[in-house]
Amino acid sequence: MTAGLIAIVGANMAGACAARALREEGFSGEIQLIGAEPHLPYERPPLSKELLLGTTDPVQIRIQSEEDWDDQEVTLRLSSTVVGIDPSSRELELADGGRARPDKVLLCTGGRPRRLALPGADLDGVVHLRTLDDSLVIREHLRPGASVVVVGGGFVGTEVAASAVALGCTVTLIEADDVLLWRALGRELGAILQRYHVSQGARVETGTCLERIGGSSTVTHVVTTDGEQIGADLVVVGIGIVPAVELAEAAGLEVANGIVVNEFCETSVKGIYAAGDVANHPNPFLGRRLRLEHWQNAQNQGMAAARSMLGARDGFAEVPWFWSDQYDLNIQMSGHAQSTDKLVYRGDPSSSSFSAFFLDGGAISGVVGVNRPRDVRAVRRLLETRQGVDPAQLADESVDLRKIGP
Ligand SMILES: Cc1cc2nc3c(=O)[nH]c(=O)nc-3n(C[C@H](O)[C@H](O)[C@H](O)COP(=O)(O)OP(=O)(O)OC[C@H]3O[C@@H](n4cnc5c(N)ncnc54)[C@H](O)[C@@H]3O)c2cc1C
Repeated sequence: MTAGLIAIVGANMAGACAARALREEGFSGEIQLIGAEPHLPYERPPLSKELLLGTTDPVQIRIQSEEDWDDQEVTLRLSSTVVGIDPSSRELELADGGRARPDKVLLCTGGRPRRLALPGADLDGVVHLRTLDDSLVIREHLRPGASVVVVGGGFVGTEVAASAVALGCTVTLIEADDVLLWRALGRELGAILQRYHVSQGARVETGTCLERIGGSSTVTHVVTTDGEQIGADLVVVGIGIVPAVELAEAAGLEVANGIVVNEFCETSVKGIYAAGDVANHPNPFLGRRLRLEHWQNAQNQGMAAARSMLGARDGFAEVPWFWSDQYDLNIQMSGHAQSTDKLVYRGDPSSSSFSAFFLDGGAISGVVGVNRPRDVRAVRRLLETRQGVDPAQLADESVDLRKIGP
């Protein structure tokens, strides 16, 4: 396909990268990038880090400038929500009454923050973090001495906590499980990072949840299920996202923890594709389906969907990778971590520079580098090929990781 109309629903990372890739791959037809938010497509990772810290601003986090979108002849339909798709004609219905009849549709609708369902959850000062506007609201509250309660010890929660500590706030991080970050990094590494948060001045309360949030119109405190009352000027809820599948569901697409796609980003309905945080896709390296909430996945799967819509059959296949920045730590992970995997450290795990390799059946299944991006890059090939490795070599700092393996 080289001409016609392609509509992309969702104008963030996956959608924007798909639109750009369509042009790079030579598509000369019309591209409509339709997004519910009023902003030009922007990067979300700085929302919990640099934007809160004030080291960047909303213009700098744009994926590209308005002129670039114009040059690429991508029609941006911002502040526009698609409310219906006809699965047979692919006609799109917009909330403002507009319509479009594309030849192909790519759904990059991402996800929305999961909400707390408990008394006080709708008080002023109880906020979520997904959008640029959310981040700007949170930034306003992060003043020195402010009491900030962060609910949820995943990446968004721990990053917000780290930013709030750096800005001089009094921070309490509440996690229902026994350790922070356990889902992504496993319990052992989660515990190491938890200690780091405490050492930097955050108070971490694990194994407890919120029972209620108190205040008259604005939050003043929270009460945990342990019965403890904690003062709060701001409560940031970071308990994950739910994939935005309503459109797909209403159109009869197969949905199961996201929109189900094959390796070509094709949904169960011909001519409709999906990519990014919303797409439940097969991963040949992990040998299973999954839905990832990672920047790199959104970028590269969006691009893969673009190629696929134009007829390529190379398929999307990547070892998952993501990063997080907290305090002075850059944490990168590639592959995945299972609680059953053996952990091998390279460097001192009580320091702020080490790597940890997850071994499954003698091969590396995942790697985490704390201030060690090079270690993560060096074992990429071993993660892809799943070749057996000698744990002693991984641990030995004098061995060049790029030379390990057959
Ligand atoms: C605070 C924060 C920090 C992060 N930090 C990192 C990090 O450090 N490292 C990392 O790897 N990843 C990070 N991520 C994750 C990364 O940003 C996401 O994986 C990525 O943004 C997903 O992009 P997406 O385009 O698939 O979905 P989204 O970013 O969710 O975008 C979907 C867009 O679709 C729009 N939309 C939904 N439904 C409709 C509709 N019906 N009509 C029109 N528009 C619609 C939404 O408004 C939204 O703008 C972070 C995410 C957040 C929120």
